[in-house]
Amino acid sequence: MGYKVTLLPGDGIGPEVTRAMRTCVEATGVAIDWEVQQAGEFSIQKSGKPLTDEVIESIRRNKTAIKGPISTPIGKGFRSVNVQLRQALDLYACVRPCVYYEGTKTPVKNVDLVIFRENTEDLYAGIEFEKGTPQCDQLLDKINSLSAKKIREDSAISIKPISVTASKRIVRAAFAYALKNGRKKITAVHKANIMKFTDGIFLKCAQEVAREYQGKVEFNDCIVDNMCMQLVQHAHLYDMLVLPNLYGDIVSDLCAGLTGGLGIAPGANYGDKIALFEPVHGSAPKYAGQNKVNPTACILSGVLMLKHLGETNAANRLDNAVRKVLKEGKNVTYDLKDDRNDPTAVGTRQMAEAICREI
Ligand code: NAD
Repeated sequence: MGYKVTLLPGDGIGPEVTRAMRTCVEATGVAIDWEVQQAGEFSIQKSGKPLTDEVIESIRRNKTAIKGPISTPIGKGFRSVNVQLRQALDLYACVRPCVYYEGTKTPVKNVDLVIFRENTEDLYAGIEFEKGTPQCDQLLDKINSLSAKKIREDSAISIKPISVTASKRIVRAAFAYALKNGRKKITAVHKANIMKFTDGIFLKCAQEVAREYQGKVEFNDCIVDNMCMQLVQHAHLYDMLVLPNLYGDIVSDLCAGLTGGLGIAPGANYGDKIALFEPVHGSAPKYAGQNKVNPTACILSGVLMLKHLGETNAANRLDNAVRKVLKEGKNVTYDLKDDRNDPTAVGTRQMAEAICREI
């Protein structure tokens, strides 16, 4: 009997990259008992719902899950399954290591950053009011009666809750990770100069928690727009970033761009007892079913999962195998070639097989 892990193949390119991940994780020799569940488009076809209680129960039971990307329609239809999963399972810490791998096309070298993104609140809380609905009109009236500044009548409203509880929890998780993994410095990223109350809470909580770790882990803070410029120019000066949800989402894609693109950026979502691993990229529907996209992000998410399961040796072997294949640059997908139309680019499956040969 192996480790029980819930596997959600997801939409678009999800089934292909998760299959590649599965092949590579199994090639390490670690026995995994995969419990395959469907969420997203397949789930809608089967049950009419993008996310069922069965999926949530499976993850609660197994405590470890890995997923492919799941599509979210823009501006209409269902709410993001990813956001629903993070909220339902209280996976409050989204952790995204951004590491330079030799052989990848990067604007800067030697980036080695870990991003801690708060996962449960902020503008991602999903509390939105549609323009023209009675609820939105009621809220507009209420806000306009309470605030000196007026909101236009033809507005929609999204709510940005930032709590002391969630802010302290994510910053504590970041400091705990820093201590455990020998990281030296944490930068809290915010816009507290403008959003004095919401981002103000986040910054104040970060400063308070940082005091508990004084002398063990260095701490500073940076305004999010300045942070983006700093990362592009001097990413090597940063070690770990902790951010509220929305900035975390945007800055982690920026960092993925700094370290070779979405095709190689892995991610993890942690709660107190449950961990869900996933590539940072989306379902890239235009490439679905073509055996074309880069499986590395999902395979490296598998590396994070193996580490989480305590299989450090297998995780390191798989990570090194990925490193070798990327460095050699031969058996890699189109996005890792200098010319995207390079006919020597291999497919998703072939790149995973090349990685397996190096384990
Ligand atoms: P995307 O990440 O799917 O694709 C953006 C572009 O990045 C692609 O066109 C492709 O050029 C490149 N890319 C992405 N993954 C790649 C890979 N593995 N290899 C090579 N190139 C890759 O982002 P999008 O187009 O904004 O979103 C598509 C769908 O995915 C949307 O429905 C969105 O909601 C969803 N999404 C899901 C998740 C998730 O499940 N966690 C995350 C982001 C987006």
